[in-house]
Amino acid sequence: MNKLPMRLVYSDKAKLPIGDHVFHSGKYRGIRERLLQMGAAKEPDFISAPLCREADVLLVHTKLWVDKLKNGTLSTREELELEVPYSQELVEAFWYMTGGTVLAAEQALRDNCCIHIGGGFHHAFADHGEGFCLINDVAVAIRSLQRDGHIARAMVLDCDVHQGNGTAAIFGTGQPEPFPPRASWATALLAPKREAHVKTSVVRDVFTISLHQESNYPQWKPASSIDVNLPDGTTDSEYLEWLDTALKGAKERFEPELICYVAGADPYEQDQLGGLAMTMDGLKQRDRMVYNFAREHGYPIMTTFAGGYAQNPEDTVAIHTNTVLAAKEVFETS
Ligand SMILES: [Zn+2]
Repeated sequence: MNKLPMRLVYSDKAKLPIGDHVFHSGKYRGIRERLLQMGAAKEPDFISAPLCREADVLLVHTKLWVDKLKNGTLSTREELELEVPYSQELVEAFWYMTGGTVLAAEQALRDNCCIHIGGGFHHAFADHGEGFCLINDVAVAIRSLQRDGHIARAMVLDCDVHQGNGTAAIFGTGQPEPFPPRASWATALLAPKREAHVKTSVVRDVFTISLHQESNYPQWKPASSIDVNLPDGTTDSEYLEWLDTALKGAKERFEPELICYVAGADPYEQDQLGGLAMTMDGLKQRDRMVYNFAREHGYPIMTTFAGGYAQNPEDTVAIHTNTVLAAKEVFETS
């Protein structure tokens, strides 16, 4: 008997073998256990993430990059940019992560909502990986559904604290902004608190929205369709207002057949790699706002979890678990 109005995609095999790292990869298992312990989910709610097909990965990534990952022939610089130790096991985990996101996207088209307890590796570009991301699973899922004729247009809503640079570059105009001089980065870091500001860009078949802390990684932020650059210390109410504005602005310009929600836990006030000031409750309100938007307009929505580096790893697990609970609240009411 299912407990939830949507399926949860999960695989033990997608555990990232990166040891004691700020990226606490045990969080995925923790979310599953917490949901089961609290009685919010039962075993039949979970479906297994499969290995992805290489043909799907190659819809987004260059053959050269995929071969380097498979054969372990990354340059020292390419390996350092990953910021996680390369291994064959890591690559295999990413193949499961990507397979899980493709499955979750397909399932979302059937059930209106599906959540992958994993995924959201938005810093992976077509030809290289960085920032803990080897393969851009969300981009692979979208291109795979498009190839199979299931959808033509998708929206990526990225609420991780870090800008979705890989996703923006993959679906962008091919003419990203020039790399800024180093001095401007230092200036941005030292500058006093600035107002949030929005940049918009041309739209093709995938509409990308990113709400992120401006003075944070990645240094180079290729243009999304809508980038909301938030100042340090942005609070719940400010964040939610900008999210509402971004969603309304996107709705005026684009009708997606699928939303891919990247529900990062790192806008949290106690995150070690983030500088926003959102509370756990504010993050759950964010999730509710996103799911209500999808539901009201009849857009299927697939969720991945992306980052989360709270000082207390249990907080990260709680924030991601709340995302599942928010989806349950919104989608189980008729
Ligand atoms: Zn992040």
